[in-house]
Amino acid sequence: MAIKDNQVVTLNFTLKDESGQIIDSTTDENPFSYLSGNDQVLPKLEENINSMIIGSKKNVILEPEDAYGRYREEAVQQVSRSEFPQGMEIEEGMSFMADTPDGKHLSFTVKKVDGDDVTVDFNHPLAGKKLEFDLELLDVRDATPEELQHGHVHGPGGHHH
Ligand code: ZN
Repeated sequence: MAIKDNQVVTLNFTLKDESGQIIDSTTDENPFSYLSGNDQVLPKLEENINSMIIGSKKNVILEPEDAYGRYREEAVQQVSRSEFPQGMEIEEGMSFMADTPDGKHLSFTVKKVDGDDVTVDFNHPLAGKKLEFDLELLDVRDATPEELQHGHVHGPGGHHH
């Protein structure tokens, strides 16, 4: 069996970084679902899932290049506190969403606050990390016409609306 495009794939996963620290995980009560072939999961990960059989488990290790990319030093920038909304609390480790002039959303993390100088990091939080996924494929079914129209999964593990 191979998973085809536009199927609803439901799985459990545990995501760990190189040091074995758990970054994210699902539970049987709250598994993860996505619409296959729609760029909703990392391409290399989806490729690995596509050959799985329902009920089977698989361990997948992704190099940074196949995950969230290399860590780019140039994506770390120094900005002034005055560029943030007035009165806003800014602390190390906080994440913000910024809108670019062309209407894109960029998220960044505050790395350091030093008086009026704020060091921000536009790298994805998982950039430069080798990721390890423990996968368990729970279910694969054809998407409903409504799900295909919406471009996302409805019901358990997906959208409720
Ligand atoms: Zn929908």
